[in-house]
Amino acid sequence: MNEKKVPLLMTPGPTIVPERILNALSKPLIHHREKEFLEMAQNCTDRLKEVFKTKNDLFTLTCSGTGAMEAAIANTISPGDKVLSLVNGVFSERLSNIATAFGATVRTVSVPWGQPVDVQKFKEIFQGGNYKMVTAVHNETSTGARNPISEIGKIVSQTESLFTVDAISSLGGDDIRTDEWGIDFCISGSQKCLMLPPGLGFLTVSEKAWPYIKKKQGGRFYFNLLKYKEKAPENPWTTAINLVFGLDECLNMIFEEGLDNRIKRHADVAAHCRAEIKKLGFKLFVNLESACSQTLTAIAASGKDIEKMRSIVKAKYNIQMSGGQKDLKGKIFRIGHMGVVGKKEVDITIEAIGKALKEI
Ligand SMILES: *Cc1c(COP(=O)(O)O)cnc(C)c1O
Repeated sequence: MNEKKVPLLMTPGPTIVPERILNALSKPLIHHREKEFLEMAQNCTDRLKEVFKTKNDLFTLTCSGTGAMEAAIANTISPGDKVLSLVNGVFSERLSNIATAFGATVRTVSVPWGQPVDVQKFKEIFQGGNYKMVTAVHNETSTGARNPISEIGKIVSQTESLFTVDAISSLGGDDIRTDEWGIDFCISGSQKCLMLPPGLGFLTVSEKAWPYIKKKQGGRFYFNLLKYKEKAPENPWTTAINLVFGLDECLNMIFEEGLDNRIKRHADVAAHCRAEIKKLGFKLFVNLESACSQTLTAIAASGKDIEKMRSIVKAKYNIQMSGGQKDLKGKIFRIGHMGVVGKKEVDITIEAIGKALKEI
């Protein structure tokens, strides 16, 4: 059981920040326009590109993940532009909402929450539609479903359309191949598998996307990517210096372990979590095992009072999990297994769930 005063964070972001990173975050400031900082920032960008598997430009933005989502859209979409959004959960819906906020005419390909996007259905709607952009989420954190981004990317990359992918909850814990999959804007954030506090957003920008960005008239300032490109490796604004110290240490940890090993470890922990939770009589929310996220597990209520269970697990065992969002409230709960969360933490959590269920 979790005896520590510090809660055991088993949420799908923020996740546990390891001691090494906490120490790096608390280092004394250096100035963000001095050589020492810029070398560190450039070194972070180079290694992050390896994590994203890209040779494209990559920018570190001072914002949570949603800011990086907005940056992709604010730099390309003007009122009246056509956008096709693949929606199977809260976060993929958010991308469509941002596009709408920037005046786009948005068409959605919706599939029931808990299922991955249907590539055939997408293909039929996409063909001949002249969309300026297609948006999708790689790992739908609200449902635990993982989308077939490589197959969708193959189709989009043969056209003039830009492909924007939110990989916020998968980067660093699952395989992301930005260039091979034809992703023009690949987005991530600091507080998921990268084990940092919230506050940094990451965005890759393809060669194909730059002419669109240059043509865009107005409607952006803080996230104007032309300013970021011109200034790199400096950030046009004051950057979150301490978070970059943390990022540097996070990347040290990733490459000490090896990226492939790390991804494999996340897959193993996810498989373990699925197997153990089923032993308590729960059903997974995502039916198709191959579409299950490897950074979080979404579990159907399966006739149990999961909200009560979660509150007991929190009060008695000091372990925090997440409930369902929007329509899924009370219907599912979610266990995050990102970053340093391993089988041991999963076992502690599942034991607490079992005990709480007996109590109810
Ligand atoms: C966490 C998350 C976000 C949101 O990020 P914020 O950091 O809260 O802005 C977006 N998309 C996905 C898939 C996420 O998991």
